[in-house]
Amino acid sequence: MSKTPLDVLQNTFGFQEFRGVQEAVINRTIAGGDSLVLMPTGGGKSLCYQIPAVCRDGCAIVISPLIALMQDQVTALCQVGIKAATLNSTISMDDSQEIERAMRAGELDLVYVAPERLLTDRFFTLLNHCQISLFAIDEAHCVSQWGHDFRPEYRQLVNLHDHFPQIPRIALTATADGPTRLDIIERLNLGAGEVFITGFDRPNIRYNIVPKKNAKTQLLKFLGEYGETDSGIVYCMSRKKVEDVASWLREQGYDALSYHAGMHKDIRSANQAKFVREEGMVMVATVAFGMGIDKPDVRFVAHMDPPKSLEAYYQETGRAGRDGLPSQAWMAYGLQDVTKLRQFTESSELPERQKHVERQKLDALLAYCETHRCRRQVLLEYFGETLAEPCGNCDTCLTPVETFDGTVPAQKVLSCIYRTGETFGAGHIIDVLLGEENEKIKRFRHDQVSTYGIGKELKRDNWRSIIRQLVALGLVRMDIEGFGALKLGGDVRAVLRGEQTVLMRKDPDGRNGAHSKKVARSSIILEREDDKALFEALRAKRRSLAEDQGVPPYVIFADSTLVEMAKKRPQDADSFLNLSGVGQTKLERYSTAFMDVIVEFEG
Ligand code: ADP
Ligand code: ZN
Repeated sequence: MSKTPLDVLQNTFGFQEFRGVQEAVINRTIAGGDSLVLMPTGGGKSLCYQIPAVCRDGCAIVISPLIALMQDQVTALCQVGIKAATLNSTISMDDSQEIERAMRAGELDLVYVAPERLLTDRFFTLLNHCQISLFAIDEAHCVSQWGHDFRPEYRQLVNLHDHFPQIPRIALTATADGPTRLDIIERLNLGAGEVFITGFDRPNIRYNIVPKKNAKTQLLKFLGEYGETDSGIVYCMSRKKVEDVASWLREQGYDALSYHAGMHKDIRSANQAKFVREEGMVMVATVAFGMGIDKPDVRFVAHMDPPKSLEAYYQETGRAGRDGLPSQAWMAYGLQDVTKLRQFTESSELPERQKHVERQKLDALLAYCETHRCRRQVLLEYFGETLAEPCGNCDTCLTPVETFDGTVPAQKVLSCIYRTGETFGAGHIIDVLLGEENEKIKRFRHDQVSTYGIGKELKRDNWRSIIRQLVALGLVRMDIEGFGALKLGGDVRAVLRGEQTVLMRKDPDGRNGAHSKKVARSSIILEREDDKALFEALRAKRRSLAEDQGVPPYVIFADSTLVEMAKKRPQDADSFLNLSGVGQTKLERYSTAFMDVIVEFEG
């Protein structure tokens, strides 16, 4: 009698119940149907094909573009006692032959394969000699040009279906948007498949955006909220900045690594492996980093510069907290950034139609940064979802932002830009508004213009914030060629005549984020000092077991399992098995080692 999905979930993976659509997807796949699964990062996509792979006869073929990730997934499966292997360019000839033999002999439950390998004659012949249980197509958005990571090899995957029409397929992605979704269905010929979509909210991520002043100091303050064993990613716009921030963080005593496309391939992958395997690493990187990072315990993602769209933001911040524990998405954002992003779009070589799309994406991002509403509500709306109530877990919810009627200040800025000939940058415009007496003002006789000194009621920072918001609103534009010279944007007449009011957000004063004490640091998931100490001891045990086996610590137990362990302190097999994330194999392998730590701790 073969196992039921619930048996596998509980006894093999050690989880009590299915999440969301998992059960429906699993049942459909076991019954032989095709599906497309859209779930956010951390939603639990892997089980959707791993459980059918165990329940159905034969070997499941998992197609994934992320070679770096495959080995860790296989390692994690082996830890729970599932027979899995990977076939890709990093595997030696001998090992490949052994894996192929095991596949033909029906000894494996799952094999992870890179798409380029899959389409070779050799591999087709192999598949013809194996019993195949299902095809899982991970990162399915790679088939689409609309997605952010198009892989031409993925286009050939439809041939697979032509050759093996009876074998169920399950395509999975965390990319939400409509055009990509339709494109995946069309390209993979999944028309008869069922589409499973879950909400895209990541409730454990706290969103937080701060007005950029001295970004490095602000970052340091933010990082100061984390423990020594917490890992996180810091995104920067350029390679140069990555190097700069990384070495600066090292000077400050952080274990900071760097990653960008300009580095030697070997160093890059060594840094990536170190980040995944060790605890407490801060990875400073460009957006080149992150695809295929499956590390579940990334506690924070910080953006030193804003990304270019909300899709990118959602994806990058989504790398935090896959394990469901409280995590932070932090961003510093300033006037300079708005300028740069606008310039990128305008000066790009894209055809006008595409540029138009890019502009809209950028507007949505800027509106998100400048919002005085709940960030999560704005973010989810962008992805076509509604969140009925403000979330209570973002900066604007935790520290409500005041708004003010910015019509008069807006008029002052607009007329000052106009009076000075639309050729000066924000710094000079503010000097004029504040009535400064400097060389440049004298040289251009700007102390003679009617807007000189009309803005003394506000501080420099306030003016920067106002100008930023005017740029976000499209009322002021940045000149592409003219070193960031401000110009009047589209239709400013209504504002200048006072026919249109401009509602603005007041940047909160002198704070770095939404909190200071309220922060959800990972170390205060446990309230009691005593539990925390035990948690650290369990973590140390996990680290040494992981080192002995040469595997990442999280494949032994997730942080969430250790947290539960520290609270419940099981001292016999039955109660150990009750922990979420402990199945039969892990019970056998690890219960003694961890219970020893508990017993010793209880002393
Ligand atoms: P995704 O691939 O969608 O990003 P994963 O498959 O890596 O997500 O799952 C995210 C985390 O959630 C993993 O740590 C996984 O073990 C856990 N998980 C998945 N399904 C369940 C479940 N039904 N109960 C408890 N934990 C689960
Ligand atoms: Zn909120």
